[in-house]
Amino acid sequence: MNEVTGNVVGNRSGFSLSIVVPAYNEEEVLKECHQRIADVTANIDGNAELIFVNDGSTDGTLEILQQLKSTDPRIAIVDLSRNFGKEIAMTAGMDHARGDAVVVIDADLQDPPELIPEMIRHWQDGYDVVYAKRTSRAGESALKKVTAYLYYRTIGKLSRVKIPADAGDFRLLSRRAVDALAGLREQHRFMKGLFAWIGYPQKAIPYERHARHDGKTKWNFRSLWSFAIEGITSFSIMPLKVATYVGVATAFGAFLFGLFLIIQTLLFDNPVAGYPSLMVAVLFLGGIQLIALGIIGEYLGRMFDETKGRPLYLLKGYQAAERSTDD
Ligand code: UDP
Ligand code: MG
Repeated sequence: MNEVTGNVVGNRSGFSLSIVVPAYNEEEVLKECHQRIADVTANIDGNAELIFVNDGSTDGTLEILQQLKSTDPRIAIVDLSRNFGKEIAMTAGMDHARGDAVVVIDADLQDPPELIPEMIRHWQDGYDVVYAKRTSRAGESALKKVTAYLYYRTIGKLSRVKIPADAGDFRLLSRRAVDALAGLREQHRFMKGLFAWIGYPQKAIPYERHARHDGKTKWNFRSLWSFAIEGITSFSIMPLKVATYVGVATAFGAFLFGLFLIIQTLLFDNPVAGYPSLMVAVLFLGGIQLIALGIIGEYLGRMFDETKGRPLYLLKGYQAAERSTDD
């Protein structure tokens, strides 16, 4: 059955599935989201639990989750002590997932839950990570599309692990992949990179990303920018090396220019007229040095955060799903 890894996977049927849904101020969409997921899970041959992570919402998200839980005992609620951001919310959800396979999906229905059965099929064939790859992004600005495109290409070039382009966080993970991820406790979590870092057989399935069902995106330009920096600094030390190369190139250029000045002075007895070139050289070098310092600072700041060794998140509450009897 499993030609991919050569391991015995066993018969992955009669399995249990955990679906992790991070939610931050999603009161408008949660009911619809639950409905769509419930429709899908009704038709799979396994048990499902739905883990909603309330990421410090300030609206009625938690109340709606409680309501839903009273009608559907398969729901678990992980209530974080404050807003920690999607990456950590997903991690909290995965930490509480008990299934043989775990699906991570956005609450806003941009990722169609109807793809889950297909993901399960690939997992049953032996893949550890089945991720959805966008073929289109509806309802997003041209600027966001272009920057996303360029960004995934850049990080693909810089990073030592292969981060698939145009894949979001919507994916299915096998138990061993979830356990592997659980061992990576870095504060600065670039999940797309971490998913790729664990390796294991991975499979992409194409899908069309829909516009948000309701509510609005939690991203703004600033958060996207820091997300982008996060991705690069977490998975590449290339920027640190750039300073070395630029330094060598500048020094070499300066050496040649020095030679040129000496020869010019010896041969043509050039009167000193160096103010503009001096200014340019001083400012140019000053700029480069500050950039290099800033880059070092980005990495240093991250080391500072990691050395504190704080837990990734704190819980305000946790209500487990009720296990079905045939579990
Ligand atoms: N989200 C979260 N914590 C945050 C921001 C977002 O848990 O601080 C959740 C959000 O509720 C949604 C998912 O992450 O389920 C994706 O968020 P969003 O739709 O804002 O991002 P986009 O789809 O625009 O990338
Ligand atoms: Mg969204």
